[in-house]
Amino acid sequence: MKILLIAGHGGTPYDSGAVGCGYTEAVETRRMATAVAPKLKKYGFAVEIYDQSRDAYKVVTQGVSLPLSGVSYVIEFHLNSAANDRKGNGRTTGSEIFVHPSEDGVGVEQAILKRLYALGFTNRGVKRNSSFAVLRHVKRRGVSHALIETCFIDDADDMKLYKNKFYEIADAIADGVAEGFGREVDKMSYEQFCAFMARYEKERAAKGPSAWAAGAWQAAQDADITDGISPQGAMTREMCVMMLQRCGLVGRKER
Ligand SMILES: [Zn+2]
Repeated sequence: MKILLIAGHGGTPYDSGAVGCGYTEAVETRRMATAVAPKLKKYGFAVEIYDQSRDAYKVVTQGVSLPLSGVSYVIEFHLNSAANDRKGNGRTTGSEIFVHPSEDGVGVEQAILKRLYALGFTNRGVKRNSSFAVLRHVKRRGVSHALIETCFIDDADDMKLYKNKFYEIADAIADGVAEGFGREVDKMSYEQFCAFMARYEKERAAKGPSAWAAGAWQAAQDADITDGISPQGAMTREMCVMMLQRCGLVGRKER
């Protein structure tokens, strides 16, 4: 199955698309298409990236056809705008995907949005709209088309997440497409699991004692039973016997 990736905007003369928070849409759509391509290939899809020196919108509005031979799905990348939250209000405006009103199912698109939501983007849903030139052109040729507005370029919360999780977003899009087309989706790798656990332990360690245990925690520190580090961290069996020994319950007290 062949998928065509189109980066929105750009071309000559250059159409930057929207700008905001230090980002230019036409630059980011190219980065995202380039990042998603190898991840889709990993799932066994044949992937083509549309000529990144051209603007597909200008091409189709000039009456020229896009290279759709053998293509069964098109993803067109964009960044949304008009959130006008350049300072950041603490919540994302989020992601949405446009498909043609005549599109049968939207399972692929929902699978993508579900994963973007898991990364922290508000899910604005799949929307049916026939006013986009490239989408209309592709659908008229019998090929399904998804126009992804990954997030809002003029929302500081969206773009902070976008910056920090760029490659996770590319993964989320590829995983959503794979799930939507019935592929077995990648499980977490061992490296990802270790990184996740390290982050989890660090967050646990950074927490102070709970209110209900604060008194006992302080008393245990005063009595030299614990060093007071990481009150909500997990305890191993050897830590347990050391603490029992410091209480004088196990053999001789060693310091
Ligand atoms: Zn755009």
